[in-house]
Amino acid sequence: MTTNTTRRHLISALAAGSAGLALSGCKPQENASSTSDFRPVTWKMVTAWPRDFPGLGEGANYLAQTITEMSGGRLHVKVYGGNELVPPFEVFDAVSNGTAQMGHAAAYYWKGKVPEAQFFGAVPFGMNAQETNAWLYEGGGLALWQELYKPFGLIPFPAGQTGVQMGGWFNREIHSIEDIKGLVMRIPGLGGEVLKRAGGSPKSLPGAELFTALQTGNIDATEWVGPYNDLAFGLYQAAKYYYYPGWHEPTACLECLVNKDAFNALPADLQAIVKIATRATNAQLLDNLTARNQAALDTLVEKHGVQLRRFPNDVLREFRKHAQAVVAELGQSSPMATRIYTSYRDFATQAGRWMKISEQAYFAARDLPA
Ligand code: CA
Repeated sequence: MTTNTTRRHLISALAAGSAGLALSGCKPQENASSTSDFRPVTWKMVTAWPRDFPGLGEGANYLAQTITEMSGGRLHVKVYGGNELVPPFEVFDAVSNGTAQMGHAAAYYWKGKVPEAQFFGAVPFGMNAQETNAWLYEGGGLALWQELYKPFGLIPFPAGQTGVQMGGWFNREIHSIEDIKGLVMRIPGLGGEVLKRAGGSPKSLPGAELFTALQTGNIDATEWVGPYNDLAFGLYQAAKYYYYPGWHEPTACLECLVNKDAFNALPADLQAIVKIATRATNAQLLDNLTARNQAALDTLVEKHGVQLRRFPNDVLREFRKHAQAVVAELGQSSPMATRIYTSYRDFATQAGRWMKISEQAYFAARDLPA
């Protein structure tokens, strides 16, 4: 079977299943036109990534292509890279005010505007991709996320899990928490706040600016995503030490933002296609990165001489202590934050117990010495 045939089969299967699919949150068809009256439209999708960027940009392309194909072209989605229509950090506003109908970004970029959004982007020492998806789709998380963005005229959907990221690129070795003191690092969101409490100095920069900032010494360290994405940025040319695990982003959940009025103007079948296409993209990114990360890491180490390092346990313990405090404080910052935090924490507790019995026990069994 060719790739195209496989893809067509997948898309028909998804389309067939979408009619009975009920994702939580938005009510379909509030002002929707009927399917037969609907005239084909083109939506603009603004993104926070360089165009066609490996992993993240590919996820945006996959989402646009899937919606366009599943709808038979009735809803054509055109992708704009960061800065092509609006800068990366203005994606939220652009979709909210209708400059674009759709966006692809990460929720923690909006922490200055909607601090609670950070729970949906990445939580240091929080849930991994499998647990996060279970919370969002089956544990009430997505309904809370959609409620949070409602005042902005936006409907968010999960649209790309990264899985556990790498800890980042450092221009010096990290032996103890003393080495974090004074460290200027690009690390967004809650992870940045944790770094600050550990004595570091966090910065938030769009991905496209990382390489230069690291190379010129404006920052001492940066995290980005994982080997596949980081190799593409050439970060190995600017720093030698590559640390794991990515305690600050046990997964990042990318988001698809949809303008509520634009969504409500769609007939029910196209609304269903948008929902299921985001869910397919959510899986696609994780599969893409899982398939490519190790080969990219091998290239970084074997071809480019990158020094792979694991954070010392004492450093991880210190980060974890601060992370628990930072996340709990965010959870007390507003009534909505408390609802989200309580839901996240309770779900993480029960999912984590199950992970110990299932995935964690299985990995340990698989790695038992002969
Ligand atoms: Ca990251």
